[in-house]
Amino acid sequence: MLDKSGFSFELLFHALSEEKVMDFLLSDPKNGLTADEANSRIVQYGPNKLADVKEKSAVKILLEQFQNAITYLLAGAAIISLFFHDVTNSIAIGGVILINALIGFFIELQARKSMEGLRSLEISLAKVIRGAELTEIDSALLAIGDLVYIKAGDMVPADGRLVNLNNLEINESPLTGESLPVDKICESLPESTTLADRTNMVYKGTSVIKGNGYFLVTATGLHTELGKISTMTQSAENVSTPLDEKLGKLTKTLIWITAAMACIFIIAGLLRKQEIYTIVETAIALAVAAIPEGLPIVSTIALAYGMLRLAKRNAIIKKLYSVETLGGTNIIFTDKTGTLTENVMEVNLIAFPHKTFELKSDFDKRKNIFLNNDVTDVENALHELYLISALCNNATLGLSTGKAIGDPIEIALLKLAYSGGIDTHNLKDEYIRVDEKPFSSDTKMMAVMVRFRDEFIVASKGSVEAILSKCSRYRKESEVLPLDGSFVKLVHKEAERISSMGLRVLAFAIKHQTEEEQEYLKDLTFIGLVGFLDPPRHDIGFAMESCKTAGVKVIMVTGDHPKTGFTIARKIGIVEDEEEANSLMTGAQLHELDIYGRDKERVMNTRVFARVTPAQKFDLVSLYQDEGNIVAMTGDGINDTPALKKADIGIAMGTRGTQVAKDTADVVLKDDSFVSIVEAIFQGRVIFQNIREFIIFLLSCNLSEIVLVVASGFIDPRIVLLPLQILFLNIITDVFPALALGLGKGDRNVMKLPPRNPEAPMLDGKDWKSLIAYCICISGSILCGVLFFEKHYANEPAIIQDMVFYSLALSQLWHVFNLSPAMSSFFMNEITRNKFVWMALFFCISMLAITGILPAAQRILQVKPLSIEIWGGIILISLVPVVLIQLLKRLLRIID
Ligand code: ADP
Ligand code: MG
Repeated sequence: MLDKSGFSFELLFHALSEEKVMDFLLSDPKNGLTADEANSRIVQYGPNKLADVKEKSAVKILLEQFQNAITYLLAGAAIISLFFHDVTNSIAIGGVILINALIGFFIELQARKSMEGLRSLEISLAKVIRGAELTEIDSALLAIGDLVYIKAGDMVPADGRLVNLNNLEINESPLTGESLPVDKICESLPESTTLADRTNMVYKGTSVIKGNGYFLVTATGLHTELGKISTMTQSAENVSTPLDEKLGKLTKTLIWITAAMACIFIIAGLLRKQEIYTIVETAIALAVAAIPEGLPIVSTIALAYGMLRLAKRNAIIKKLYSVETLGGTNIIFTDKTGTLTENVMEVNLIAFPHKTFELKSDFDKRKNIFLNNDVTDVENALHELYLISALCNNATLGLSTGKAIGDPIEIALLKLAYSGGIDTHNLKDEYIRVDEKPFSSDTKMMAVMVRFRDEFIVASKGSVEAILSKCSRYRKESEVLPLDGSFVKLVHKEAERISSMGLRVLAFAIKHQTEEEQEYLKDLTFIGLVGFLDPPRHDIGFAMESCKTAGVKVIMVTGDHPKTGFTIARKIGIVEDEEEANSLMTGAQLHELDIYGRDKERVMNTRVFARVTPAQKFDLVSLYQDEGNIVAMTGDGINDTPALKKADIGIAMGTRGTQVAKDTADVVLKDDSFVSIVEAIFQGRVIFQNIREFIIFLLSCNLSEIVLVVASGFIDPRIVLLPLQILFLNIITDVFPALALGLGKGDRNVMKLPPRNPEAPMLDGKDWKSLIAYCICISGSILCGVLFFEKHYANEPAIIQDMVFYSLALSQLWHVFNLSPAMSSFFMNEITRNKFVWMALFFCISMLAITGILPAAQRILQVKPLSIEIWGGIILISLVPVVLIQLLKRLLRIID
């Protein structure tokens, strides 16, 4: 048990030696803490969590609902009513303000809750040694004294004192502002060393650029250096998104339209010498009619709901507005391994000079079964290969937990070595690792130097080109021969042959020596090649097909061998024709070209880029962006961050990706799959489509109200809708159907349309045309119908007014069905299949029925009990617009 009185977060661990720190924190350097011990320390010192972003309080959210132009306008209307001694009206308007705010309040609360749910999906994992096993745990569950492993690409999960490391370099810019990576050491430092110079410590929130190492946790959560800063600068930010801006613009347009109408109306009223009160009341009604009260609420909830649905489909969107860009994406740069392929590597083939074996590993029986050749004369080479596989490796098989951790390629190699008889679990006690050159997608190789008794062994694996460039000899059966040009050619040819079967190829090399060298990566002995089977994902076909119909171009960028890349690209349909030789390009070729000038065309025709560097990924993104494309780019490594940032949509891999990549990306794929990228694009389009749909719906309802108010005002001021009635329409019969439209699941057909440009305005010319047609049909039918009835009820304007109110309310409800696209059937489409639409209709009709029956409700809305004939007339009138609009849509095809 950690001595409770002895530990403090203020202790200067950098000044203690590794042994002292270890003694003090009572962490066993090999076995780490036990789970029980860790738990009791978490109870004592708190979890490793920064305080959540300060929550907006419920009261604040509620108050904010009142701070908008709509409320001010309504309040103005209430005051004016009061001024004209119309107390009921002003109280009722007050009630509406309240109801509107309450609806907004609950919806915002709900949206916030969904967002929080999303945030909890973004847990970051830490690799820690607990009870002698390397396991991955939620980093919030790290305890003081935990022995944590970090490697290139990880975010450091807590503050700690390093006890063991390999070429560890850390980017500490989040803490110090210094962008150059810091070289780390294990030795103790003078007590007076300042934070930025404590090179034997690591700090939460910084990221590992290179190498790997172990540290003992010395501070967690708010006690970390990052925690101390973050408590100072905590804020709940609320940025406005491009979508908000577009919605704002739309609302402004509406307000201008209304202002113009109101002016005409007031002037006309004055000319006709109408009563001031009537004019004012109608002007208020107009203003109220113009504003789509539901717009902001509905768009927030549509986006939030869309994000949740995306999360269920394995894509976590980090910023709400990325959804819009996602729907507009027309280029996907995707890597191969794990995204297009399954990434469950299996060693399938071993090639030694002059002899190639196909094999199957039987992991359970611990046997490698060679299929075509006898291995007796290559026993030595085989043993060396197993040794390299096990030593030049950072994965663990987790034999007791049954869960292997690490790069799938390294797991496959460990399994190979284990099945070949190597004791992979205890090997590292005998072969002490002295140094490591970690894998990076720039060098495309990894090497380690280990000490075995009094010998130093360098074991290395990587791409054929990288490994051969470090070799000067090769092993042929039991001889070691000097490497020459013809042998190099032979190896390349063999690698090409294996790659064109779609296998991934790694080359292996080794060196034994008696002295430790500084520059040990030279004069290696080439041992052989290993081919890994990594089949295309089984569900990739449909996704590829969708991309084609949706006008999304897919380009593979891989660090892998060109032939492997090309073969996979052929298999899954990125390249459709074997003859398309120029659809393949290597990084080396790309380097020679003038991609922004003369050779642009050539580059843009390429569908597979192989052996590219992360820097070239960045160039490819900007090349395509310059041509006006919306580019999505996948990435997993630290070096991918510039390209991820540059792309319009940066996509990080949730399981395979580094924490750093995940932190920079806009989208994190939980399952790393290309299929999820396509699904996310689909959902992005659906969400956008939904938003567009309910905007058209809301606007056509509002415009019809404006037209009706103005027109009826000219016909007979006594039949103009009352402000309260309009408010009822706007916050009940408009909002709920609109909300239902916003929650629609969408139609697969959106993937048959070309991508839309996110820069384009929300509604295009065609949309406005439909909108105006809708508005004319709705208000025209109602006016004509009502005029027809007016003859019979000429001396009861109140009844006419009620008819206008109810027929408008009902026709707005039926209007949802007009929004289905002309190409779908009227009865079976995404709108009739949307259960929310039916729920909304049920709810709104019930509300209308209440106003028709309940005297109290009638008094507030100032409607009268109506006879059956009148109700019949209302229903009839309300159905006319649907019929007219469907005629225009499906028969005359004037609108779509
Ligand atoms: P990909 O685009 O397929 O993800 P990578 O950048 O991961 O490509 O890998 C590029 C090349 O680096 C591979 O073809 C392989 O030769 C080599 N390589 C990949 N992983 C490792 C590793 N763990 N150790 C050594 N070399 C590796
Ligand atoms: Mg990779």
